[in-house]
Order: sequence, then structure tokens, then C-alpha cells
Amino acid sequence: MTKVALVTGGSRGIGRGICLALARSGVNVAVNYGSSATAAEEVVEAINALGREGLAIGADVSFPDRVEEMVKTVMERWGRIDILVNNAGITRDRLLLRMKVEDWEQVINLNLTGVFLCTSAVSKIMLKQKAGRIINISSIAGIMGNAGQANYSAAKAGVIGFTRSVARELASRGITVNAVAPGFIDTDMTAALGEEVVKGVLQSIPLGRFGTVAEVAGLVEFLALSEAANYITGQVLNIDGGLVMS
Ligand code: NAD
Repeated sequence: MTKVALVTGGSRGIGRGICLALARSGVNVAVNYGSSATAAEEVVEAINALGREGLAIGADVSFPDRVEEMVKTVMERWGRIDILVNNAGITRDRLLLRMKVEDWEQVINLNLTGVFLCTSAVSKIMLKQKAGRIINISSIAGIMGNAGQANYSAAKAGVIGFTRSVARELASRGITVNAVAPGFIDTDMTAALGEEVVKGVLQSIPLGRFGTVAEVAGLVEFLALSEAANYITGQVLNIDGGLVMS
């Protein structure tokens, strides 16, 4: 039986890397995207080139009806969902005193409510299957905080609390739920940082470099597919070059 994954925000960056890593390991992948259909179709082509099936689904995952429709589309195509990766995320960085309520709401709606909506919709299917792996992409900002990211840090910390609660609720039904907390990873999100900021950040990373998309994708692939991960649930795995040690 070929496994099926749904990856939110799979059209670029870390999400794209996760889609390809899963496809390389034999999984059919639904590639959700927010706005760039062309990028998502390119990911589907790359999945096909790896000998697996892909499906691009445009849906803003901060809206319940879009999420329901997206999950229905995946079920119509493959009839099952074994892996859910809640990866879609945005930043609207501003210092607290300048942060508008819209900045707060947009980030919470996608980065936290989106995780709730997708997990809620997909877990119903996984409960029937009596198996499933859910992986939520948090951030070290949700653990240590970050000036200018009160909204993002709150959402990512929320994802960690959500992960632990849902892991407890679903454990007896064969479903594991874990969070991955990346540090600074080479993507569009970190390309926006200025040279001076990058210099300062590098000094605080024991391994002295940013991480790669392939490294984060490899960790997600481990949690999604490995036998060892059958016995891992409710955990937050940091992948940050040693930036956070606890
Ligand atoms: P990115 O900006 O490159 O990609 C974000 C993805 O989210 C895109 O595929 C986009 O289409 C999708 N998206 C945006 N709005 C959406 C919406 N409303 N509905 C559905 N999809 C939507 O970001 P990235 O750097 O690849 O980050 C991926 C995840 O990893 C995010 O959750 C981010 O917070 C987290 N993260 C990234 C870093 C980093 O250093 N890049 C560090 C820690 C955590």
C-alpha cells in the first residue's frame, strides 16, 4: 500500500523539501499552497519524476471550509491520508509597539488556527484508519522568543502546546503527533535578514551556520516514516545547530 501525505505550504522552501523527501521514500503527496499554483505544479512534476503521484491543491488553510474541501480532494484522489505535515507559515514582524492587530491576526490565523483546522479534519480520517503521523512545524522562536516576532512566537509556542495535548488525545488510537522546531534555515524567510543580523545570529549558533531545507526535511521524513518514530509522540525536536539546548 502506497502511503499518502498532505503537506501544507508545500510549494516552496521547507515544505517543498518535505514533499520531495517523502516522495523519494515512496509516498504520494498532496502539495497544498497558498497562492503560487505554478510553484506547486513544479513540485508535483518533481514528485512525478521520482515515480510517485503528486496533487497540487490551492487552499488558504486559515479558513475551515477551504481545509474541509482540501481534505475531501485528497480523499477523492487516494482514499487515505497517512501523514499530515502542518508546515504553512508566515511572518509579519514588527516590534510590539508598532504591531497592528492585523499583523497579529494574520499570523495567528495561519500559523496556529491553520494547524488546528488541518489536524482536526485529517485526524478524523486517521482515527478511522487507526494510524497516522502528524508533524507540526514550530520554530525555536516559540521556545526562546524573538524581538520583533511576538505574534509569530506566540503562534509557534501555541503549536507546541497544541502538539502535546493532541498527542495525548490520539496516542491510544495509533496516531503520533510531534513538533519540529527549526532554528535559522536557508530559505526565502531568512534571506530577508540583513547582513549585520546574519553575522550576529551566526555567532550564537554553536555549529556556526544556517541549516538546510534538506536537513529539516530529513527530520520530518524520519518522524513520518521510520519505525523508531512509532514510539515518539508529543515531542518537540529542535533542529537549530545547537542554538537552543535544554
Ligand atoms: P516560505 O515562506 O518559503 O514558505 C511558506 C509556505 O507557506 C509557502 O509554500 C506558501 O505557499 C505557504 N502559505 C503561505 N500562506 C498560506 C496560506 N494562507 N495557506 C496555505 N499555505 C500558505 O517559508 P519556509 O521558510 O519554508 O517556512 C516553512 C515553515 O517553517 C513555516 O511554518 C515557518 O514558520 C517554519 N520555520 C522556518 C524557519 C526558517 O528559517 N526558514 C525557521 C523556523 C521555522
